[in-house]
Amino acid sequence: MKNYDVAVIGAGPTGLVLAGLLSRAGVKVFVAERRLHRGDRPKAVVLHAPTLELLDSFGLLDDVHARSIPLERFSFHVSGAGSYSAEMTGTDTFQDGYRNMPQPLLEGLLEKYALEYGAQIEHGVGYLSHEESDTGTTVHFDGHPDIRCTYLVGCDGPRSAVRESLGIAMTGRTLTSSYLLVEGMPQELTGRDEVGIFVGSTGMVTMMPIPGDQVLVAGPAVTGLSLERGAEVPWSRIEEAIETLGFGRRLRLAEAIRTSHYSVDLRTADRLVAGNVVLAGDAAHLNTPAGGQGLNLGISDAVALSWRILVALNGGNPQVLSGYDEERRSYAAEVVKTTFVVPFVERIRAADEATRPAVQAELDALALSWSQLYPGAGHFHDGRYELTAGARVPTALRTDTGVIPFLPPSDRADASTLILFDDAESAAPTTDPSIPPVRQVHRLPRPAHGGRITVPDGARGLLVRPDRRVARVLTA
Ligand SMILES: Cc1cc2nc3c(=O)[nH]c(=O)nc-3n(C[C@H](O)[C@H](O)[C@H](O)COP(=O)(O)OP(=O)(O)OC[C@H]3O[C@@H](n4cnc5c(N)ncnc54)[C@H](O)[C@@H]3O)c2cc1C
Repeated sequence: MKNYDVAVIGAGPTGLVLAGLLSRAGVKVFVAERRLHRGDRPKAVVLHAPTLELLDSFGLLDDVHARSIPLERFSFHVSGAGSYSAEMTGTDTFQDGYRNMPQPLLEGLLEKYALEYGAQIEHGVGYLSHEESDTGTTVHFDGHPDIRCTYLVGCDGPRSAVRESLGIAMTGRTLTSSYLLVEGMPQELTGRDEVGIFVGSTGMVTMMPIPGDQVLVAGPAVTGLSLERGAEVPWSRIEEAIETLGFGRRLRLAEAIRTSHYSVDLRTADRLVAGNVVLAGDAAHLNTPAGGQGLNLGISDAVALSWRILVALNGGNPQVLSGYDEERRSYAAEVVKTTFVVPFVERIRAADEATRPAVQAELDALALSWSQLYPGAGHFHDGRYELTAGARVPTALRTDTGVIPFLPPSDRADASTLILFDDAESAAPTTDPSIPPVRQVHRLPRPAHGGRITVPDGARGLLVRPDRRVARVLTA
């Protein structure tokens, strides 16, 4: 039986990023993917700044630019009541806004990256079960001989068989509305720089541009239109539902090219870690497509998990994985909350001149959280994001005069970073056995007063984990 350090189940974006990061660090990785072919069925499209920064560190940003289009804002257009826009620019990153790229194209790039670093990726191989023993975990497949591994990671999507075999429940609820996804040619080519959410009295639909002058229509989320899984839904029925929203030609398609549909869940797994088996991505949490959170959240799970697996494999404290469970479940719960936009849409519908500023402020806050640049709502105080333990360190700081580079992106899951502020006199001791060793030291400017990013008074520097989260604030 072949032995691997890590077996990853599922070659979606989460599994592929994990495989790439671990292989890059010299770990022997096996990836089992049930599908023989990736296909081109519409799924997620929005790539947020942290994902773009990671893809940049993978050397893939040029490929991404060639296959995606830039966007600047999310706009809510309310039938008969004007529009509200949330800019996705002006955040603390050197990436401007976000980009739309069909998920199958992204997966193709990520797979190439993982293969280049030696990951073994097998298609047409379905996970069946596993058993853990003192010598490791044995995994049984359909379509492949058994393998043995030290860590098994279920990145096998919403109906995760790994999660099921662990008996872990997904707590939350399933919404009654369903989403139909249609990629096609619009009758009118408008709104090329925004994700437009069109709100009518009977429901809402999202329309966003994708490469090739096409659009992706997601919806309609219409009261009383519930789609059975796998049901054939005539496009004419959907068109009728969209017509009732009252936006006329703006939402009409000249041609529907590809379709898919899915039901929407708001759920988080009760546990993400059981012994040496871990869950990540959609196997661990599910949310609505609002703000394009699912794919980006799965990728950040992979980043958060990769360095912990390395610490554990290198003889560090295996309890390091429990930190993953706590941190990622609480962040997933935060994300799940921000994607349930029904109450917000009700407030938009009911808004008048007096309440409009409050609704806009709520949308601005949503946009900041959807950017995934500022995880951990608890780090925000009076609109400023404080870099204390657990906060994400930005790649660039936005100031009145422009963007100043801060901590550069890195694809190294095996290296922590020491930041010393350039006005601090000396370095404090920096060893911490619960994170990978410090291999990079950066002298950086202290975030200036007045910006969104702040550090605690008296901080001389920051010890930063490979997933860019602050491990410790260094003081005198
Ligand atoms: C139709 C659709 C539309 C979506 N639209 C959006 C959107 O607009 N915005 C957004 O943010 N998110 C959207 N999502 C969600 C987004 O696609 C997911 O969040 C993202 O794919 C999660 O990535 P993942 O790698 O965790 O899981 P997945 O992409 O689901 O990948 C899991 C992989 O595991 C494989 N697998 C499953 N079982 C096994 C097994 N037993 N053995 C081996 N392999 C297995 C599957 O074949 C799959 O390739 C959409 C999802 C769907 C289905």
